[in-house]
Amino acid sequence: MDKKIYERPVIIKQQMGFMNKFGSAPANQPLTHIDNVSVVEMAEKYGSPLFVFSEKKIRQNYRNLNRIFKTRYPKVQFAWSYKTNYLNAVCSLFHQEGAWAEVVSEFEYERARKLGVKGENIIFNGPDKTIEGIKKAIEEKAKIHIDHFDELYDIINITEKYNLKADVGIRVNMDTGIYPKWDRFGFNYENGEAVQALKRIISNERLNLVGLHTHIGTYIMSTEPYKIAAQKLVVLANMLIDQYDIKLDYIDLGGGLPSHNTLKGQYLEAEQLLPTLEQYADAITSPLYDLNLSPSEFPTLFLENGRVLIDDAGFLVSKVLANKRLSDGRRSTVIDAGVNLLFTSFWFKHKVRPAQVSSTYTESATLYGPLCMNIDIIRDDVVLPTLKKGEYLVIMYVGAYSVTQWMQFITLRPNIVMITEEGKIEQLRKSENLDYIMEQEILPEKLKEFSI
Ligand SMILES: *Cc1c(COP(=O)(O)O)cnc(C)c1O
Repeated sequence: MDKKIYERPVIIKQQMGFMNKFGSAPANQPLTHIDNVSVVEMAEKYGSPLFVFSEKKIRQNYRNLNRIFKTRYPKVQFAWSYKTNYLNAVCSLFHQEGAWAEVVSEFEYERARKLGVKGENIIFNGPDKTIEGIKKAIEEKAKIHIDHFDELYDIINITEKYNLKADVGIRVNMDTGIYPKWDRFGFNYENGEAVQALKRIISNERLNLVGLHTHIGTYIMSTEPYKIAAQKLVVLANMLIDQYDIKLDYIDLGGGLPSHNTLKGQYLEAEQLLPTLEQYADAITSPLYDLNLSPSEFPTLFLENGRVLIDDAGFLVSKVLANKRLSDGRRSTVIDAGVNLLFTSFWFKHKVRPAQVSSTYTESATLYGPLCMNIDIIRDDVVLPTLKKGEYLVIMYVGAYSVTQWMQFITLRPNIVMITEEGKIEQLRKSENLDYIMEQEILPEKLKEFSI
């Protein structure tokens, strides 16, 4: 038997909360395997930290949400939000399932094209589109969602200069009861700007109005805002039908459905707090039946969900570097994955589970990353078994906005693997090395030598 490591006794102030009917925080059960593959074995083979994705979970999530919408509305088309996770393998998986691409920059547009997505299957959003980018998107028949009047004028100029006709839609922002309002994107509904933009598009013979778009926010915790958003887009669509006899190809309700991550301010776990996906789908699809159209003329419903489809399919495996006591006696555990890899830990209480059967003794601890930065905290207060140096833990629900928002800072970005449906481990991205990082740098001649 291993000799037990001596730990200095400490007196810990008990933080008593009010009695409540939920009982005490559950001790975290170990997560030794992901899709039947041993976490520790993966970490030992591919290094730590390590991002792991589950192909099975991604496909399940997609099929489930797609079914929920398709049973409620006859024409549904998903578009994968690239910025949520643009690993080639992840995008390809969604395209295999039938998703189009939703992009918010030319970089993302080019990624989708390179992966083999046709222009006509790309939804081009965002406030940052260059003249060349717009021209290409028009020529390739992408769905361009105009964000502001300056962009509308750019599009008009391009179509005149190059003698083109452009299919366009507009992004509409509106008051849905969500604050702060996301009114920096698109044309406002309440002040009449959206109608103004539509009228200008309709009156231009080079522009062909094909759709309306909104994306009301992210991690939307109730169904009501979606209902309001859909109702407002239906008012606009009906105005186009009644006054201009324009029947849109599609109405795009964006993304924003929440994953099962719990926000920092939330007391209850997300699973207990959030509406079901069916309830969201009802809120989004019901208002569409108020369109002044016969069912055969109904527009396609586009959805651009990111987070909800990928978050719980991503795991971050991390190794314990050290345990220490803070000056006030609190336990802290230092792990090798920090906020540089997990930007989302600034606002989510990511679930953390040990990767091996560990001590049965639990204690609340702060989980620090390895960076020399005070803000490098993965969880400020999490009940965990007392993990030993060298043991692993798994940070859960990290599939969304992690491997796109991560930054190269102090340490190198690690390997990413995927467990396939067949139980194979495929490497999706190689860990970075010094050469890769230095490759883009140019050291001026006069700085190449020094003597110290
Ligand atoms: C980010 C984004 C999405 C995806 O949002 P999620 O909250 O991840 O579902 C969809 N559409 C647009 C325009 C976006 O900017």
